This record gives sequence, C-alpha cells and structure tokens, in this order.
Amino acid sequence: MRLKDKVALVTGSSMGIGEAIARRYAKEGAIIAINYLKNPDKADKIVKDIVAAGGKAQAFKADVSKVAEVEKLTADVVKTFGRVDILVNNAGVFRTVPVMETTEAIWDEQLDLNLKGYFFAVRSLVPHWRQIGGGKVINISSIAGTGAFPNCPAYCAAKGGVVNLTKALAAELGKEKINVNSIAPGNVATPLNAHVRGPGNDEYIKMMKLFTPTGIDFMDPEDMTGAAVFLASDDARMVHGETIIVDAGWSVW
Ligand code: NAD
Repeated sequence: MRLKDKVALVTGSSMGIGEAIARRYAKEGAIIAINYLKNPDKADKIVKDIVAAGGKAQAFKADVSKVAEVEKLTADVVKTFGRVDILVNNAGVFRTVPVMETTEAIWDEQLDLNLKGYFFAVRSLVPHWRQIGGGKVINISSIAGTGAFPNCPAYCAAKGGVVNLTKALAAELGKEKINVNSIAPGNVATPLNAHVRGPGNDEYIKMMKLFTPTGIDFMDPEDMTGAAVFLASDDARMVHGETIIVDAGWSVW
C-alpha cells in the first residue's frame, strides 16, 4: 500500500476520473474525502464500497467553483479526519462552444470551476500544510491545456491555466514540502464527454483513433490512477510543477 493512512480529498469524485482516483487511493490505504455536488447517492455508494473493503471514507457536498464553499470543504475535511495530506483538484466541466457562442456566463462557469476553484482549494490548505509539514497537490488539467482544440476556448484557457498555475504554486511552495503537480488526461470515457462519444460523432472518433499512436479513442478512468498514485506518493517528492500527460500517445506527434 503506497498511501497508507494518508488523508486524500478528491474534488468531484462521485463519478468519472475523480471516482476512479478515489477508489484507487482507498486501495492504496488512503482515507478518502469524496466531494460531490449533485449526486449524494453515488457519493454514498462509493463511501460504502470503501468502508466495506475495510477502508475509511466520508462524502462532503460542496460547489468547488465557489470560494466560500471550497474553504468550508477543506476545513470540514480537516475537522473530520484531523488532516489533509493529498488534494486532488479534479472537479471539472467541459463545454464544446465555439468562440462566438462563448458568453460571459459560459466563460465564467468554465474558469470558475476548472481554474479558480483549484487555486482556492490549495490556498485554503496552505496554512494547514505549514502546520503539518507539507502536502501534495494533484491538479487535473487536460491535453486541452497542453495543446489546443477548436470549439472550447474557455476550457482550453482554464486547463492551460492549470498547467502554469501548477508551476507557479510549485515555484512558491516547494521549499515548504508542498508538492504541486498535474495530470493532463487525453480522452477518457466519462459522463463529461458523453456528448462527443455518442451517435453522430463517428468522424471525431475516427480521427482520434487515427491520430493516436496506440489507436485508442477513449481511455478508461482507471488509466489515470497510476499517475495519480505516483504523484501522491513519496516517490514523487522531487517532482515539482510537472504535468504528466496520460493520453495514450495522442500528443507525441
Ligand atoms: P465527469 O463529468 O465524469 O466528472 C466531473 C465531476 O466533477 C463530477 O463528479 C461532477 O459532479 C463534479 N463537479 C462538476 N461541477 C462541480 C462543482 N461545481 N463542484 C463540485 N464538483 C463538481 O468528468 P471527468 O471526465 O471525470 O473529469 C474529471 C476531470 O478530468 C475534469 O477536470 C476534466 O476537465 C478532466 N479531464 C477529463 C477528460 C476526459 O476525457 N474525460 C480529459 C481531460 C481532462
């Protein structure tokens, strides 16, 4: 077990990549804070599964696009488990909206959740990490943050922001054993992108298969968990400000 008795808060972990990371961290011995927004039943089911397997977990409702709720969430988790060792900033929303249809409301929604919430979650935990002697942050970016795609400028801006925010936080907090890194997933089959996987998306799926060296169009959420365990473990103590691209090879060309 690589994360024995570490307390991990994974935002947006009632489904998708966050759920997979939370379940994998539990298998690695971590105590899990599941954060959810709208789906208490799914969050409770994950908690029950972890507890049934001998682990420890609790669900916490919070809208992590709102600073006050982020601050309350991290404080509640510290109060419940006594500490937070690992923060996975994972909650995200992805809209395919072309430039001229990107309204201020869409821009704010994408940036508030995918970037602002990440920063304020870290900021809220820094005093705690100063007290306990360090912490780990894993920010979930995207290949839309290391490269660009059409029809999602706000999402690309937010995820690109996450990559450089990760570096900026590492630059400032590294001396305090606060270890900040990022994972940039490629296409992963989750509810987030169901709208680009269903009927009518044959061209896109064909393109993904053709242009991905492994021929894989959509990975599984579990494919993200190896990098997430590594970055949360002591093995990554000298890795700071890095973004690990896990994309089945999409960006090698
Ligand atoms: P998903 O839609 O399956 O899960 C997103 C999670 O975020 C859900 O649990 C949802 O409830 C939660 N969430 C949404 N808004 C929230 C809010 N305001 N407060 C708290 N929680 C909120 O998506 P996913 O594919 O698992 O995405 C997880 C992360 O991975 C996101 O940051 C996403 O941008 C990133 N990502 C996904 C892909 C992909 O192909 N699926 C690729 C690259 C990056």
